[in-house]
Amino acid sequence: MNDKPNLKLGLVFSFIIFSIMFVSSVLTAILAIIFHPNFSSEANKFLWPIIDLSIISIIVGTTISAIIGKKILAPLVKFSEAIMEVGKGNFNIKLDEDKYYYVEELQKMSQNFNIMVDELNNIETFRSDFIANVSHEFKTPLASIEGYTTLLQDNNLSKEEKSKYTDKILNNTKRLSSLVGSILQISRLENQDIIAERSRFKLDEQLRQTLLLLESKWSNKNIDLDIDLDSITFHGNEELLMQVWINILSNAIKFTPENGTIRCTLKKDKNWITTSISDNGIGMNEDTQKHIFDKFYQGDKSHSSEGNGLGLALVKRIVDLCGGEIDVYSECKKGSTFIIKLPC
Ligand code: ADP
Repeated sequence: MNDKPNLKLGLVFSFIIFSIMFVSSVLTAILAIIFHPNFSSEANKFLWPIIDLSIISIIVGTTISAIIGKKILAPLVKFSEAIMEVGKGNFNIKLDEDKYYYVEELQKMSQNFNIMVDELNNIETFRSDFIANVSHEFKTPLASIEGYTTLLQDNNLSKEEKSKYTDKILNNTKRLSSLVGSILQISRLENQDIIAERSRFKLDEQLRQTLLLLESKWSNKNIDLDIDLDSITFHGNEELLMQVWINILSNAIKFTPENGTIRCTLKKDKNWITTSISDNGIGMNEDTQKHIFDKFYQGDKSHSSEGNGLGLALVKRIVDLCGGEIDVYSECKKGSTFIIKLPC
């Protein structure tokens, strides 16, 4: 970056100092004449040396202020250049916070500027990661659709082969459609601060309905259900909450081996309605637990074709919008418990 201060700013600063000195000299002379009527006759012999001295001090003062002004204005010029870089999209620029430690405002300005570029950098990284993840998630099903469509063009295919390839195309199309749906929904939910459409409904019934909806999945794996649901009415968005249970219960089924157990309880106290969903499946290590609510994060890659890593990000957003809390407790190879608390 250019260290030379902007000349125009330096000149303005010197001109201001020059004007102040000039005006104060003239004022002093006028006041001396008004309040000492004898001044002009007495001071005739001193007047010219005083005028000479004033002119010299104005010139010397202005020159010194011009030189010092360059130093004083340097951080402002640096700041302006840094802002220009940010405007061009360079968020890696930083101001030296310790350089101007002797002027509190300048130090604060540098600190605030650095915080601002850090934030912008995070947003930029998040944006580019998001685009990379979306593109990656789209690429796999699209490549499959392309491959199976090419295979279908062969006229010598048997009926079974044709039906197998059509099924594959259909499954990948469904995957794409669910991905697009999740992305749209998550961005819509991120742009809203409250849930507008709310109604009263029975939470225990909703949980039973969800389990019924997923029956084919858990019965195929011979999973045992242990259910203990109190009768509780909730005031909220029924559709969004249904998605919370579908995502968490689907995961519990997906990550629990055959003959496993899923336990689901629903209780209420003075402040919270608490739902707990536990499984004795594969569990998660600490690193996975830290990231499960991140968009597109998939801890267990062996099931990656069955999801897109957006389920729990969506769940977290919905629970946040309800004013609730979600926690996870898990241990590798032992199982996981998701606790969802909703305000009464
Ligand atoms: P997806 O299920 O599509 O991979 P999610 O956002 O629903 O995406 O879950 C993110 C990750 O959290 C999963 O990939 C998995 O690693 C982990 N996870 C979620 N629920 C469970 C569970 N019940 N048991 C073990 N791991 C889980």
